[in-house]
Amino acid sequence: MKYILLLALAALIVVGIAGVFLLAQPPHLEVKAPPAAIGEITPVSVHIAGTHGFQNISVTLEQDGKSSSAVVVEEHKHRLGLFRRETPRDVTFNVGRKLIPSLHDGKAQLTITAKANDILGKTESKTFDVTVSTAPPHVVADGAQHYIFQAGSELVTFATTGYVTDSGVQVGTHRFRSFPLPSDPEHERFSLFAMAWDQPVNTQPFVYATNPTGAMAKATFWYKIFPKEFRTRDLDISDKFMQSVENDMEPNGTGDQVARFLHLNRDVRQQNTAQLVALSLETAPRWLWHEPFFAILGAREAMFADKRNYMYQGKKIDEQVHLGFDIAGTAHMTIPAANDGRVIWADRLGIYGNCVVIDHGYGLQTIYGHMSEFLVKKGDMVKRLQPIGKTGQTGMAGGDHLHFSMQIDGVQVNPIEWWDEHWIHDRIWSKVPPPK
Ligand SMILES: [Zn+2]
Repeated sequence: MKYILLLALAALIVVGIAGVFLLAQPPHLEVKAPPAAIGEITPVSVHIAGTHGFQNISVTLEQDGKSSSAVVVEEHKHRLGLFRRETPRDVTFNVGRKLIPSLHDGKAQLTITAKANDILGKTESKTFDVTVSTAPPHVVADGAQHYIFQAGSELVTFATTGYVTDSGVQVGTHRFRSFPLPSDPEHERFSLFAMAWDQPVNTQPFVYATNPTGAMAKATFWYKIFPKEFRTRDLDISDKFMQSVENDMEPNGTGDQVARFLHLNRDVRQQNTAQLVALSLETAPRWLWHEPFFAILGAREAMFADKRNYMYQGKKIDEQVHLGFDIAGTAHMTIPAANDGRVIWADRLGIYGNCVVIDHGYGLQTIYGHMSEFLVKKGDMVKRLQPIGKTGQTGMAGGDHLHFSMQIDGVQVNPIEWWDEHWIHDRIWSKVPPPK
């Protein structure tokens, strides 16, 4: 009897231990967005999905063969709870030189370890390569004089030091990227930028540089902004115009005619602006052109940044700003490319109807709208004055004409400066010359 009892006890212990092993849970550690770089204090988020939760999370940073560890989150809980169910959750903690003072700028390995909150305390680790970057970036702009017209373009060169991963120019709400300066690509960069038509004239442009941890350095440069008066025009909207626009842009649409027109004029216009901003990323890191932009001939019926009041039956139903030139000539007039470049869009584009976008490099692009016919396709390299299509009335157009506009990094600018050889020499080529 005593023997059987002992045996039963032994069996119970074996089952118990087996149970502990079977029921113990790893912490199920996931790191969805490991940091590429860490600075003084860099937040890191992990996801713990194990049903027993965790006792603690620790980090180890290994650099030059030496490693330092620290516990970053500690949770004191009863460790026996093999049947407890914890909801999976995200935990955020800080790593960086504040935590491990021996770190220095350069490469390192970050290991994150979580320990399960049960009797076995299984651990799980994830290791990542990171860059330690604690030195603040530094940026110095050129000493040139920058004359900037509202809705116009300009170019600034600058030098950065430190480990910089992003740099450029910020003008109000717009940021313009930078490229290595061809004459000194190792040490200097430049940004082509614009003072957008809708930025207040007291906006102060500056160059910026950020390091991988997001720390930003800024520098100002000499500039003078010239305000520009923009026109306001009333545009009479007839039922016939709305019908023809709706038939072209949304032939299967239903509902109130004015409401449909306002949807196209507001929502679709806004979507098209976002599409143009996305296209601005498809740019060559060099000038693709070496002559001034060609001012396409014809009557200029609307100017850059004309404010338009849309009048219907004597009442204003909408207002929008016209960000280009409307050029009218004979119907189905051949449209020449304004300059050498690469076609990055030749398709419908909402209010612009059949539209071509040509990239000229360094974020500079030309846009041609309302075409009746395409003579180029996406990917084509085109030469200045090469026919790219025929004018028409597609999209939001009241008659056969070309809508022509230009953008820098997705910000539409007045093309007038780019038609002027002297301006291009002074403002652009003196700093970033055309290819030979
Ligand atoms: Zn237009």
